[in-house]
Amino acid sequence: QAKKAGRNDIRFFDQQMQDTINARASMEKDLHKALEREQFQLYYQVQVNSSRQVVGAEGLIRWVHPKRGLVSPCDFISLAEETGLILPIGEWVLDTACAQLKAWQQDETTHQLTISVNVSTKQCRQSDFVALVKTSANKFDINPALLKLELTESILLENVEDIIATMQELKEVGIHFSLDDFGTGYSSLQYLKQLPLHQLKIDQSFVRNIAIDHSDQAIVRTIIAMASSLELNVIAEGVETEEQQKFLQKNHCNHYQGYLFGKPSPIDQFEVLLK
Ligand code: C2E
Ligand code: MG
Ligand code: MG
Ligand code: MG
Repeated sequence: QAKKAGRNDIRFFDQQMQDTINARASMEKDLHKALEREQFQLYYQVQVNSSRQVVGAEGLIRWVHPKRGLVSPCDFISLAEETGLILPIGEWVLDTACAQLKAWQQDETTHQLTISVNVSTKQCRQSDFVALVKTSANKFDINPALLKLELTESILLENVEDIIATMQELKEVGIHFSLDDFGTGYSSLQYLKQLPLHQLKIDQSFVRNIAIDHSDQAIVRTIIAMASSLELNVIAEGVETEEQQKFLQKNHCNHYQGYLFGKPSPIDQFEVLLK
């Protein structure tokens, strides 16, 4: 009896595994065609300063699938990374952001706005990454200082020297770097001080309970103090309430991003919000 049940368990497990494998394969097949079918959109979320003036936006990718609907990057970026599709997708993101910067540059109410884009480690480690970014910036004739690349601490896991060289080359043409999700990953302070960064981005997990949680308050104060002594700009992500913003402002974090100021939205809606 036990043996029989056991066998059934195994068969059930196999079926679940098979379903997972099929779902992934189907997603992968669709993802391969998503670029040529123009199914990606770049959403924009505002970034503001302590006077609540808009200083820029983060570009966040969305996949608009005819059957699946709006697919969140959390559900396809890791697959894109595993399959290498993140490379052409990443190029599309860069081009889209640069085209938008170009459009903003031509209007005096928007010409100083920055755009941040997320860059996967795999993308940043491709041998022609520097050339790709430069090509994109040149093609749209943008001011490179308005383009910010967001990297995560996972970039520090191996061959840090290569990454520093890549970042340095891009910094020389004026491009800025922000360290995303800061505090959640592997962060050797030894490496951190060597990276040519412009900004630290405090992860939203520390911001969430900042109005009540003393440990989070201590961590955030420490990140802000460290950023300040390394002469880095600091931005908090996931700011949803006035209380969170007040705490951050009182502790000299002067840039914020989160639902309190605006959700990520398609460009048309974003531009309405700007006005
Ligand atoms: P991230 O770069 O850390 O982006 C922040 C995430 O927090 C975004 O989720 C954003 O929509 C969400 N968020 C913003 N404000 C709030 C808030 O006030 N409260 C809460 N609870 N959440 C907030 P999203 O858009 O789903 O993106 C998830 C992650 O996917 C991003 O995290 C980033 O790591 C990755 N990603 C997004 N776009 C791209 C891309 O173009 N390329 C790559 N490689 N990764 C991307
Ligand atoms: Mg980001
Ligand atoms: Mg983040
Ligand atoms: Mg995050």
